[in-house]
Amino acid sequence: MGVTGYNDLRSHIGHKVAVVCYGKEGQDPANVAVECEDCGCVLFDFDRPDKPYVIVGLRDTDDWTGEPLYWSNEHGWALLKNATRFSDEERRTVNLPVGGKWKKIKG
Ligand SMILES: [Zn+2]
Repeated sequence: MGVTGYNDLRSHIGHKVAVVCYGKEGQDPANVAVECEDCGCVLFDFDRPDKPYVIVGLRDTDDWTGEPLYWSNEHGWALLKNATRFSDEERRTVNLPVGGKWKKIKG
């Protein structure tokens, strides 16, 4: 996809770029992209994550940062970067750990 480095992006200097999205209307777009309208190509893009849910702990925060803790199947309560991601279906079938609440995160 798109640009991978300095020279790739350099070739679009001065071009008209736009952030666009793809998918069904009325839903979160399946994909958002930065496109060069002059060249008609995608510079870079991101797909909507299939597993947009995490479990956030309502009781404890991280001792160091004071940030909320998130559920990790590996580590227990952990920082967001280590949190286990869940799909919409898992959200409906997985039992929440005590003190946990579902949270939808953005891709
Ligand atoms: Zn261009």
